[in-house]
Amino acid sequence: MQRKKEERLKKVVILGSTGSIGRSALEVIKNFPDKFNVLGLSAKSSVHILEEQIKEFNPKYVAIFEKKAYEELRKKVKNIELLLGNEGICELARLKDADIIISAIVGAAGLIPTYEAVKAGKTIGLANKESLVLAGELIKRETKKNNAKIIPIDSEHSAVFQCINGCNKPFIRKIWLTASGGPFRGMKKHEIENVTPEEALNHPKWKMGKRITIDSATLMNKGFEVIEAHHLFDIDVESIGVLIHPQSIVHCLVEFIDGTYLAQMSSPDMKAPIALALSLPERLPGIIKPIDWTMTNQLQFEIPDTEVFPCLSLAYEAAKTGGTMPTVLNAADEVAVEAFLLRRLKFNDIHKIIKKVMDAHLASSASSIEEILEADSWARKMAKKEIEK
Ligand code: MN
Repeated sequence: MQRKKEERLKKVVILGSTGSIGRSALEVIKNFPDKFNVLGLSAKSSVHILEEQIKEFNPKYVAIFEKKAYEELRKKVKNIELLLGNEGICELARLKDADIIISAIVGAAGLIPTYEAVKAGKTIGLANKESLVLAGELIKRETKKNNAKIIPIDSEHSAVFQCINGCNKPFIRKIWLTASGGPFRGMKKHEIENVTPEEALNHPKWKMGKRITIDSATLMNKGFEVIEAHHLFDIDVESIGVLIHPQSIVHCLVEFIDGTYLAQMSSPDMKAPIALALSLPERLPGIIKPIDWTMTNQLQFEIPDTEVFPCLSLAYEAAKTGGTMPTVLNAADEVAVEAFLLRRLKFNDIHKIIKKVMDAHLASSASSIEEILEADSWARKMAKKEIEK
């Protein structure tokens, strides 16, 4: 009997289990032991959190990126298949027994494991934005070829996924992604000239890592999400719009050819899209708090001002060019944001650096991850050179 029950459990692998998405996924799993079983966990170096997670969830496989952390963990845990490095993480991504791979590694490091999962034809809960921003065309091609399935975990994309569920594509006219607008919403260009990293890091709605918080302040994050949506839903870049919606209650609008819309709403809490990716086609009870309508009596929508936030236009430009241009956009942005955080670049110069690097790049369609990584490192070098000027 016990065995039968275990066979019905969905076997989950979490890549990046010690990060914020990974931990939220484990919280969901913890509350539904009759539905999920943790098959594998991976982390970069956070031995202590990982050790706690191993004790609690008893995974069969664990992969850890850094050698030192691996050695440390090896002394502490028994009865576990402990894997090392990127190759170990990729092995987890391909696990035959896994029913779903949650791809929650932060940044470009998530690209290769995600790509491996796609090539192995897995079902992937995708929280790693970079996979589609850096290598969208490649990932899409391999997804089709290997019959893999991507369930978006980014909140706006999960929203779109829910709204277009079962709808024929020709009936969709436009997808609108919403953005909170960040801390500088409504400001003029000269007003944000001298903003500090601290001011830019003060996001009104979402608590996130530093890079993505700055990317939200410049609207580059929304630009990346346009690229993500373009690949996920196979929709023209021109048919994807952005709306500033400061309440962060509506996460997307899908506009149909008859002029009607479907919207998806919830409190801004990443646990909702994470739980949905895990539980589809079911929904789980009590994942996040319902909206308090006595406190939420206004929903506003505005068209973003691309004069003040030119990063959004750059992302559209990169998406339209395609090939390696979005790779270059992302790399140049990462370097520029880092320089801004170190006070070596003004907020309003972030987009200038990215533009210069894009202008110097001749985009080509990439047929391998190696070509993507090559464009990525070229753009990083170029951006650093431009910042030093
Ligand atoms: Mn998002």
